[in-house]
Amino acid sequence: MYKPQKGEESVGERYDVAVIGTGPAGLSAAITLKIRNKSILLFGSKNLSEKVGKAHEINNYLGLPAIKGEDLANRFAEHLKQMEIDITEDAITSVYAMGEYYTVQTRTNEMYEATAVILATGVDFGKPYPGEEQFLGRGVSYCATCDAPLYKKKRVAIIGFSPKEEAEAEFMAEVAAEVYYIPVYKEPVSLGNQIQVVRDVPVSIEGEKKAERLLLKERELAVDGIFILRESVSPSRLVPGLSVEENHVAVNRRMETNLKGCFACGDIVGPPYQYIKSAGEGNVAALAAVSYLDQKKKEQKEKADQ
Ligand SMILES: Cc1cc2nc3c(=O)[nH]c(=O)nc-3n(C[C@H](O)[C@H](O)[C@H](O)COP(=O)(O)OP(=O)(O)OC[C@H]3O[C@@H](n4cnc5c(N)ncnc54)[C@H](O)[C@@H]3O)c2cc1C
Repeated sequence: MYKPQKGEESVGERYDVAVIGTGPAGLSAAITLKIRNKSILLFGSKNLSEKVGKAHEINNYLGLPAIKGEDLANRFAEHLKQMEIDITEDAITSVYAMGEYYTVQTRTNEMYEATAVILATGVDFGKPYPGEEQFLGRGVSYCATCDAPLYKKKRVAIIGFSPKEEAEAEFMAEVAAEVYYIPVYKEPVSLGNQIQVVRDVPVSIEGEKKAERLLLKERELAVDGIFILRESVSPSRLVPGLSVEENHVAVNRRMETNLKGCFACGDIVGPPYQYIKSAGEGNVAALAAVSYLDQKKKEQKEKADQ
């Protein structure tokens, strides 16, 4: 997988802040940044967050008693529309600290640059499979679009966590010799005949120097590559070098992480898992990012004046 290196030339336009996540935390951050006239990129889904849209009835969101999740999601979407905030519908697979800025890489292998980053991806990243982290970059990948060329005429297994990953399997089948697709969801799978759908439960990944076998509950698949396509990536895998405590991103009261210019808010930083707490932290993270940008500008001006 291509990884940008510090000191490498930038890829083009640089935004002030990249906000990752379209739940209450990310949306609140994006709105505050927009009010403060910052240029933003907001990554996530036009359906916003499943955790909002699917909630039956919400009774503790200030000013909106007994609101259905779907109605709250519609209110959020209306708010974004009024403020002319667009959502880039793509999942982020990696965030690289480049020194003066961050490069974010998407599932579709696009690269974007921003001076600061706000992580608001929620808490649903699940546990990695045994062997997953050990073989990451050595036969295990999270991005079919990025890494498919490495598996030309080879055998690959794809573990898909939602039906939208089926498109990735179709794409992989154009390149690889054999594709196994293991859906980790109940909906029916609709894929071409060249893909073997395996209804089984992934257990672990094994190999010597690289991943060689995917162990399932009922059988074993000998493969050259294993793609694990989840929407969410655990924070430490998303941002190399990020400090994580008990599976949550460690932050201070300004929502600053251990990496300068990288902030986090919402469920990703820990309980209580609540809408209003997430939205409040999104606001704090955005204002801290604004201070960071102002400080950076000041330093640049002082340097230029010397
Ligand atoms: C059924 C249910 C009912 C609930 N009821 C209540 C309630 O009544 N009151 C209450 O206060 N709380 C309730 N909660 C908890 C509440 O949903 C969460 O605390 C809140 O949604 C957290 O907001 P968040 O923005 O941190 O994360 P989320 O809402 O989880 O949003 C995370 C966002 O990040 C996006 N994302 C994830 N990974 C990536 C990636 N790699 N790239 C780009 N985008 C990504 C997701 O698509 C999503 O948009 C409920 C939760 C559930 C599941």
